[in-house]
Amino acid sequence: MGSAQPTNPLAIFDSHNPPAAEMYKKCVHCGFCLPTCPTYALWGEEMDSPRGRIYLMKLGAEGKASLTDSYVQHFDRCLGCMACMTACPSGVKYDRLIEATRAQLERHYRRSPGELIHRRWIFNLLPYPERLRAVLWPVWAYQASGLRALVRGTGLVKLLPRELRSAEALLPALTLRQLRAGLPERIPAQGELRKRVGLLTGCVQRVLFSGVNAATARVLAAEGCEVLIPRDQSCCGALWVHAGQERQAINSARKLIDVFERASVDTIVTNAAGCGSTIKEYGYLLRNDPQYAERAKVFAAKCKDIAEVLAEIEPRAGRHPLPLRVAYHDSCHLQHAQGVSTQPRQALKTIPKLEILEIPEAALCCGSAGIYNLVQPDTAAQLGDMKVKNCLSTSPDVIASANPGCLMQISSGLKRAGKRVRVLHMIELIDGSIRGTPAEEIGAGHVG
Ligand code: SF4
Ligand code: SF4
Repeated sequence: MGSAQPTNPLAIFDSHNPPAAEMYKKCVHCGFCLPTCPTYALWGEEMDSPRGRIYLMKLGAEGKASLTDSYVQHFDRCLGCMACMTACPSGVKYDRLIEATRAQLERHYRRSPGELIHRRWIFNLLPYPERLRAVLWPVWAYQASGLRALVRGTGLVKLLPRELRSAEALLPALTLRQLRAGLPERIPAQGELRKRVGLLTGCVQRVLFSGVNAATARVLAAEGCEVLIPRDQSCCGALWVHAGQERQAINSARKLIDVFERASVDTIVTNAAGCGSTIKEYGYLLRNDPQYAERAKVFAAKCKDIAEVLAEIEPRAGRHPLPLRVAYHDSCHLQHAQGVSTQPRQALKTIPKLEILEIPEAALCCGSAGIYNLVQPDTAAQLGDMKVKNCLSTSPDVIASANPGCLMQISSGLKRAGKRVRVLHMIELIDGSIRGTPAEEIGAGHVG
C-alpha cells in the first residue's frame, strides 16, 4: 500500500487508487446535491459542497492544486453522509471518490502534532472494545460518584481541552450492567427455524449499547432465527475506511470475513448503520486482493441491516401495543449509503398503537458521522442542534434511529437544549413490544 509514483507528475495524489477521473467527470455541475449537503447548508460555500469538493479532487488529480491546509480542510469538513449521492441524477459515486481522496490525504498530508495525537488516541481506542471497556470503568466511577454532575454544574468542564469536552458531552450515562454485558455465542430460534444468522456486534455498539445488541438477538430469535454471535469478531473497519486509513480497513475486513465464514450463516445482521454500509462494500474494498476478492463479495451479499431482515420475514412473534409518538431519524449511513428507509418504518408499523412521526429536513445529517463529532466538534454540534430542533418540532415521546452514533449525537443535542426525551434504537421498541414491556420502561436509561 506504499506510495506509488503519480500518473501526472504535478498531481498531489499518487497512482495507488486516486479519485477516478471517469467518476469525477460524471459530475455535470447541476447543483441538485447542494441543498442536501449539511456543510453547504451551514456555510453556503461552494468548496464545502459536493460539487466543489469534486472539483477540488479534479484539480488535485490534474496537478492544479497544492496540498495546503485549506485544501485538506474542505475534505475534513465533509461528513461522508452521502446525502449528495441520493440527490445526484448523474449517478456520481461520491462515496468512492471521497474514500480514495481521504486515503491519498492520509498518505501525503502532514497534520499538526496536536491533531495527530488526537486522531491516534481515537484510532487506538474506539475500534478495540476491550480497550474501550477498560477506559470506561473509571469513566463509570466518574459518573456514578456524582463527579460528572459537579464538573458540569460548576462549569469546570469548560476547562477541558475542546477534544475531551466533546467526548465527555457525547458519552451516555454508563451502568455496571452495560459494562459487564455479553451475549452467548448461540441463541436458539423460537419455534420452527427460519434462518441461521450471524450478529455483528460492532465495537462502540458492543460496549456502549450492549442493550441494543441484546434486543436485536432477542427479536431475531423470537422471529424464528438461530443467532450466532462469534466471540472473536473484531472491528469491521468502518472507522478506518471513513478516515482514509486503507491498510487497517483492509486488515479488519479480512479478519471479519474469516470469522463469519467459520460461523457458516445464511445472513449477517448489523444494527449499526455505519458498520452496515462498510461491510456491504467489502467487495470493493478487497477488489485487488486475490485471496479475498471473491470471498468479500459473497460476504457482502449476505449482509443486511436488522430492518431489512425483519422486512423480509412475515412477523411471527406477537406485538403488544406501545402508545408512543416516535420521531424516526434516518441515519445517513442507512438512508443514503444503503438505501434503506422504508424497512425501519415498516418494522415499526408492526407495533400496534405506535405513531411514526416524520422529521422536517430529514435528509440532513445529525453531525455524528463516524468520528466527525470528535474531530469537528463545533460543526457537529451545530448540526446536532438543528436535528434536535427538527425532532422536537414533532412533539415526540421517543426519538428513534438505527445507529449508535446518531443516538449519542441526538442525546447530546437534547442535553444542550435542556430537553428530556428518550432516544432509542428502533429495535429496542420492537423488542419491548414483543416482550410486553410497558412503554415508559423501554430504554428508561436513555434519556437525553
Ligand atoms: S457526503 Fe455529505 S457532507 Fe460530504 S459532500 Fe456529500 S452531502 Fe456534503
Ligand atoms: S448532483 Fe451530481 S452531477 Fe449534479 S453537481 Fe451534484 S454531484 Fe455533480
